[in-house]
Amino acid sequence: MDKDLKNKTLSELEVIAENLGQKKFVAKYIFTFIHSKNTNKISNISPLSKTFRTTLTEQGYYISHLNTLKKFTDSDGTIKYLFELADGNRIETVILFDRKRKTLCVSTQAGCAMKCAFCATAKLKFKRNLTAAEIADQINVVQKDKGKITNVVYMGMGEPLLNYDAVLKSIRILNHPQGKNIGLRHLTVSSCGIADAIRKLSDENIRPRLAISLNAPTDTLRSKIMPINKKYPIKALIEAVRLYQLKTDLRVTFEYVLIKNLNDSTSHAQTLAKLARQLKCNINLIEYNPHPSCKFAASSKETIEQFAKILDDAGIETTIRFKKGQQIKAACGQLGADILNPAT
Ligand code: SF4
Repeated sequence: MDKDLKNKTLSELEVIAENLGQKKFVAKYIFTFIHSKNTNKISNISPLSKTFRTTLTEQGYYISHLNTLKKFTDSDGTIKYLFELADGNRIETVILFDRKRKTLCVSTQAGCAMKCAFCATAKLKFKRNLTAAEIADQINVVQKDKGKITNVVYMGMGEPLLNYDAVLKSIRILNHPQGKNIGLRHLTVSSCGIADAIRKLSDENIRPRLAISLNAPTDTLRSKIMPINKKYPIKALIEAVRLYQLKTDLRVTFEYVLIKNLNDSTSHAQTLAKLARQLKCNINLIEYNPHPSCKFAASSKETIEQFAKILDDAGIETTIRFKKGQQIKAACGQLGADILNPAT
């Protein structure tokens, strides 16, 4: 049985407290101390009686925490954290600053099994799913260092919807008023397109914003760079997203990494516009971030601007995201490059 108190929702902590002969409300102290006051020691939860703190420890309960191995700072202000998990696996987390907004890009798996051709994390291969505690703790550590995190994007290493239960649990924890109290509109799950999981998520009683890493407007091209497309082709993906929108009334973001001479032509932009018009969505065009483990190159600034203009002219809200954190390999698609090859 999992004894990590950080890995529990408030209702799960209430059950633990009651099973150990305590009143239900005692759980609130544990939850708040862990998720609002960033406590990593049971002995520090001062509102609990000494006897109960001892009982928890004797029963094997503990509070896990990430070990920060290294912090990298880019000249544009972006910071990347390299964390070690209890079993020695490593993950990365990135904080991006934009005026008053502090956005944390969190990892949900150590490595990734999705094999997207442009992504460094894919080269690490899949190691394991993170626990909800390991996901939530990325916010705890960075918040301690950089102050209140306003937005969390599940867009770091791994495919969040293939670690469905832990991701959903971490959302419940982060959203809870007794913890970080981060609003659902400030929590975004980014998926490479696991259509079944998107449909499942649409039926939950807690639903974050959704972003889809699309990167190609046709099945032929998408299957070449994102193998998951063979299982869930664009039509199936769009249907799942449409259902999510119907149930949540939330705008969906499509992310599109522009790669030179691959997915950046006028006709790609026109096909993408046609696709996007079917949904209430916006598109983030992302400048490709080269790294030694992939052979692709970034589209030129002119090509990106021309691509954006075609989408804009078609009435699609489009934002260009130029490279951030590139020097420290913290940009989109680069996470894991330092773990793969620490010498670079
Ligand atoms: S882009 Fe995302 S889903 Fe694809 S391999 Fe990288 S981490 Fe995995």
